[in-house]
Amino acid sequence: MSRKPILAGNWKMNLDHLAGLSLVQDLGAALADKDHDPSKAEAVVIPPFTDIRTVQVLVEGDKLPIAWGAQDISAHDDGAYTGEISGSMLAALKCSYVVVGHSERRQYHAESDALVNAKAKKVIEYGMTPIICCGEALEVRKAGKHVEHTVAQIEGALAGIDAADVAKLVIAYEPIWAIGTGETATADDAQEVCGAIRKAVEKLYDAPTAEAVRIQYGGSVKPGNVVEIMSKPDVDGALVGGASLKAGDFADIVTFYQ
Ligand code: PEP
Repeated sequence: MSRKPILAGNWKMNLDHLAGLSLVQDLGAALADKDHDPSKAEAVVIPPFTDIRTVQVLVEGDKLPIAWGAQDISAHDDGAYTGEISGSMLAALKCSYVVVGHSERRQYHAESDALVNAKAKKVIEYGMTPIICCGEALEVRKAGKHVEHTVAQIEGALAGIDAADVAKLVIAYEPIWAIGTGETATADDAQEVCGAIRKAVEKLYDAPTAEAVRIQYGGSVKPGNVVEIMSKPDVDGALVGGASLKAGDFADIVTFYQ
């Protein structure tokens, strides 16, 4: 089975809706300049909640080859949860993807595997695709426990999700020590863990599900290292932070296949 690469730009808490509008305009122009072929790779932007409607209107109006998503979702459907954003709100904005369990949410908001699992289920319930993040801190890697740690996060995040839904979702392996640090895991490091995640999915479900699930690498991906990272058999894309804030860099990353 061939998996379409997915290159997703996580803007984090950067860019208000006007700056987001200008970035997506520039990204659309850069992808057109580079003759991006959307059948070869999928481009996704993941803006802050406050920018999503603006991005939606621009992308739909200009028919840009860019999907969009959200950085988080509430585990609740609606009601008295001040500050939360629900699955139905994100689905109404035609989000295709929702990131769950980013290491910054696990670290600063104490999100557990159980909460990540509940959020992933909400994303699916509302007809969107979760991008489930996992990955180890530096101490875990130094102790040589990065594979078992990451696989355990994925087992927790997938609990109770059936094979048909797992086959469609996206997993992002992001070693925490490589996020926003300029420190990239080697392509072999990325392959080691992405391969182990795929094997874990096969063990939990079956071979066709493992073959179908898309696994991204994330951590200081840039135009200069994306080609090597994407050359690995179990790496199906990248979740990109810093470099997704520059239209030209992100367009280069999306068109890594050229
Ligand atoms: C991220 O936030 O998911 C990320 C990978 O960031 P950066 O590319 O800046 O390391």
